[in-house]
Amino acid sequence: MIELEGLTKRYGEKVAVNNLSFTVRPGIVTGFLGPNGAGKSTTMRMILGLDHPTAGDVRIDGKHYQQLKDPLTYIGALLEAKAWHGGRSAYNHLLCLAQSNGIPKQRVGEVLETVGLTAVAKKKTKGFSMGMGQRLGIAAALLGDPRILMFDEPVNGLDPEGIHWIRTLMKSLAAQGRTVFVSSHLMSEMALTADHLVVIGQGRLLADTSMADFIDRNSRSYVRVRTPQRERLLDVLHQAGIVVVESGDGVLEVDGGKAEQIGELAAQHRITLHELSPQQASLEEAFMRLTAESVEYHAHSETSAEPPPQQWGDGWGRG
Ligand code: ADP
Ligand code: MG
Repeated sequence: MIELEGLTKRYGEKVAVNNLSFTVRPGIVTGFLGPNGAGKSTTMRMILGLDHPTAGDVRIDGKHYQQLKDPLTYIGALLEAKAWHGGRSAYNHLLCLAQSNGIPKQRVGEVLETVGLTAVAKKKTKGFSMGMGQRLGIAAALLGDPRILMFDEPVNGLDPEGIHWIRTLMKSLAAQGRTVFVSSHLMSEMALTADHLVVIGQGRLLADTSMADFIDRNSRSYVRVRTPQRERLLDVLHQAGIVVVESGDGVLEVDGGKAEQIGELAAQHRITLHELSPQQASLEEAFMRLTAESVEYHAHSETSAEPPPQQWGDGWGRG
């Protein structure tokens, strides 16, 4: 378990991490989602005691990282930067880590096997591809057989086979009852991997929710309608109690999967339609909406931001 309480990091004027409180639990994959610069890597460095919080606290199974005896046996991490010595072989790199952390030598061969690097174990890591480097980083994280694993953007720069491999590995680690905390700036990636979702934007917590709930709340379906008789159609729909959002270019977005109802109402009132198409908003859009609000929050204080889309009825946002 990883517990953050009011965790904050400032770099001069910049607040990289702003009062974050959440808990990462065992037995599931927790996705840590935010746009580039949101503060994910800084948070992860503070969890590992590599950066000092300006305020707040973070604990691993109730302890600060520095208080852990043989920390690699509690928490294994893959951070963004390549953290090995290029002149060493993969085997020797892992052996050094094992020896300085009270980990039996035989684990080196085991983790090399797990990540599929056995064949190149004695080669210098200088010549490793990005994907091989990621695999070596993951081998180091797994070395101490820790109950907690943390991966910072592990799929960056990997080929589809490597991405699939990492996803499967993270799920199997969680299924073994381990705590798995993984960051990404891609909603699509999280949707495929995470059971739970923590979303941040500009250092602040924006959502802490199960993936199922996030999908449920945000997979909005609507019908896109274009008509040269916009005002008439709006009146008709409004009278029928149908919620409409106007989305620029004269396009109307009508909530729910009611294309037939809209088409029939339009026909009854002899309104011409140029388009009537059911749509499904993507989770990526939901993520953009969520994080756009955190960007807007700052924009509001300096300049005037655009007003929200005009709405009729009781609106479609349920969250
Ligand atoms: P993410 O990993 O979500 O992309 P980071 O944690 O790397 O975000 O960065 C969060 C913010 O903090 C960014 O604006 C970044 O420029 C800033 N930042 C990160 N590390 C430092 C540092 N060592 N000094 C100054 N600013 C930093
Ligand atoms: Mg980062």
